[in-house]
Amino acid sequence: MTNIPYARQNINDDDISSVIEALRSDFLTQGPLVSKFEEDISRYCGVKHTVASNSATSALHIACMALEINSKSLVWTSPISYVASSNCALYCGASVDFVDIDPKTNNISVKALEEKLIIAKKNNQLPDVLIPVHLSGYPCEMDLIFELSKKYGFLIIEDASHAIGSKYLGENIGSCKFSDITILSFHPVKIITTGEGGAATTNDKNLAKKMISFRSHGILPGVSEEKVVKDHEIWNYQQLYLGFNYRMTDIQAALGISQLKRLDNFVKKRNILAVNYYELLSDLPVLTPARNETIYSAFHLYIIRLKRNLIKKNQKEIYEEMKFLGINLNLHYIPIYLQPFYSNLGFKRGHCPEAEKYFIEALSFPMYFDLSFEDQKKIVTNFKKVIKL
Ligand SMILES: *Cc1c(COP(=O)(O)O)cnc(C)c1O
Repeated sequence: MTNIPYARQNINDDDISSVIEALRSDFLTQGPLVSKFEEDISRYCGVKHTVASNSATSALHIACMALEINSKSLVWTSPISYVASSNCALYCGASVDFVDIDPKTNNISVKALEEKLIIAKKNNQLPDVLIPVHLSGYPCEMDLIFELSKKYGFLIIEDASHAIGSKYLGENIGSCKFSDITILSFHPVKIITTGEGGAATTNDKNLAKKMISFRSHGILPGVSEEKVVKDHEIWNYQQLYLGFNYRMTDIQAALGISQLKRLDNFVKKRNILAVNYYELLSDLPVLTPARNETIYSAFHLYIIRLKRNLIKKNQKEIYEEMKFLGINLNLHYIPIYLQPFYSNLGFKRGHCPEAEKYFIEALSFPMYFDLSFEDQKKIVTNFKKVIKL
């Protein structure tokens, strides 16, 4: 009996050839293939600039730096996300806070956001940046969030680590129609992979330029007139900021270029799998993910919520019994502020009640390109058995 993982990459012969070709080329680290991958992402998303990096976490960090987040800044995000969505603000010395979720979508609640903004305005504690997260690939209500950003004067970084290939109001996620910067992840469990890798997209040339420099030690190629030490012009580089080594390699970009060609197929298959799950789960005591005509989700995850009053077992028991049967479920995520590190910053239980309710109800079902309908039937049959007693 083979185990069913909750997520898995799809690598084909074209991917392998593409990487081998990169290995035989002159460049191993950042070179022409990184530029080509960036151009391909820009074209796909319908955005002007893409800055690739060695992870989405580093892309989030340089995005915060480009928006000038510092120790005086306040950043708000969703409690139901991977810790990286919030850690990036802490790297810059900023304070963070969390906006409760909408139980229908499990994304940041626009109502909760507006209420929190009204109070924050009174207290003169408005956020500088909001990081909405498109959980599972289901886009946040970006048009409404964008309106609030204009009214209350904050900037927006979309954490679209789950959402390359998703569409909102006909716009591709990554287009930055409703944000300053959008972050993508190419970790192997995500929609497309480069092994490790991420990218930041933006329509703002200046932000792109800053992120390019932060990705590589704060150095910009070429010389700017006023700052260069005259005698050193010949060496043709200068450090203007304090940056990092967050570069993607050409080997990774080769894989990304090849994977991107299959992105639409990947997402199409994930949507077919989602439809299968909606049908297979329709009579069970679970809430299935939100659906809406204005939205096309990349379905990075298929998250159900247990109707706890109708099921005797808790998440942990269900998880363990399913694992024993060779089926790996998962939880995305523990509310960030309940993590020990965040408790130590002073966050308390009860801060975001909807997020905490989600935390004891949510389970991610297996979702990946190579999952078969047979697998899905087996998953749901076993799930039925497990929750019955
Ligand atoms: C995976 C993920 C990240 C971090 O991505 P890496 O590429 O692994 O650094 C950030 N935010 C969310 C929501 C994620 O799921």
